Amino acid sequence: MSPQYSLVVPIYNEEDNILELHRRLRSVMDSLDGETELILIDDGSRDRSLLLMRELHEQDSRVSYLSLARNFGHQVAVTAGLNFARGEAIVVLDADLQDPPELIPEMIALWRHGYQVVYAQRTQRQKERWLKRVTAYSFYRVLRHLADVEIPTDTGDFCLMDRRIVDLLNAMPERNRYIRGLRAWVGFQQTAIQYIRDPRYAGEVKYTFSKSLALAINSLVSFSRVPLRLSTYLGLGAAAIALLMAVLVVYWRFFAPHSPLTGYATITVVVFFLGAVQLISIGILGEYIGRIYEEIKGRPLYTLSEVAGFQDHREIARNSRRSIPKEENLE
Ligand code: UDP
Ligand code: MG
Repeated sequence: MSPQYSLVVPIYNEEDNILELHRRLRSVMDSLDGETELILIDDGSRDRSLLLMRELHEQDSRVSYLSLARNFGHQVAVTAGLNFARGEAIVVLDADLQDPPELIPEMIALWRHGYQVVYAQRTQRQKERWLKRVTAYSFYRVLRHLADVEIPTDTGDFCLMDRRIVDLLNAMPERNRYIRGLRAWVGFQQTAIQYIRDPRYAGEVKYTFSKSLALAINSLVSFSRVPLRLSTYLGLGAAAIALLMAVLVVYWRFFAPHSPLTGYATITVVVFFLGAVQLISIGILGEYIGRIYEEIKGRPLYTLSEVAGFQDHREIARNSRRSIPKEENLE
């Protein structure tokens, strides 16, 4: 029989958080009105995370886990969890307890009320570096103006999704998985609950600056074509300036022959400016073309080295074109 609720938790080097996470999730799971499965996804951890996951699976029959064969990144790890989740309502949360598990019953209540997506929206972040707060704050606001769909500001991946939504996400072939965006894109009845984002329970942030930047660029490129249009606008702007300059040059030639602006310096600035505009435009084009290339290769999204706690995992793996781990690694 399939469970009523699935909890999906991506894990990358979280050895100091896993036991506490399980302790807090356990009391939430005990209080829920239906059977619950906890799916832990090891995203190629290099510490004792996988070991602890194996132990938890031994101790608690509700715990199942997947181990990706290397670090594929947070969004792919969540995607893998969603591929395997069997519940009628699926909750995604981080392993570091920044997303308080105690909110889950409230999310479920809203789901019962008829919402297909209940996402958590942070009103405050605690103990995060100011650089992270400032960049995150401004990024979500830029994205809101540029994206084709309305992606709610200050929301992460912490959410509850109905089976229908997860089936739709699973059916999306794209490799570029900005889950917050895809989740907003599907539509249906969505609602927010507000919460204060706790500090990490233990360990270091796993999202390095470069990973966050990559995620930001990904989300922009996947959900907006405005950057492509940018070069058109810049080109039009440059043309307008050139026209103005031509008029000025003629004017200076006749009326102000000693103008200091007509010399070598002007030319240098103009050449550099146009060079920069062209390089940036090529770079933007490259971002889109690179993604077309990624999509067209059609490689599987992730590879699995270990799976435990799923009876029908072979079928799931086959259906979603995932690699199937070797027999000895299986239960
Ligand atoms: N994570 C992951 N793969 C990665 C990086 C992070 O599965 O390559 C997981 C991590 O273990 C945590 C969640 O994603 O459960 C969020 O990571 P983190 O707390 O570092 O990010 P932040 O809270 O700053 O968004
Ligand atoms: Mg965190």
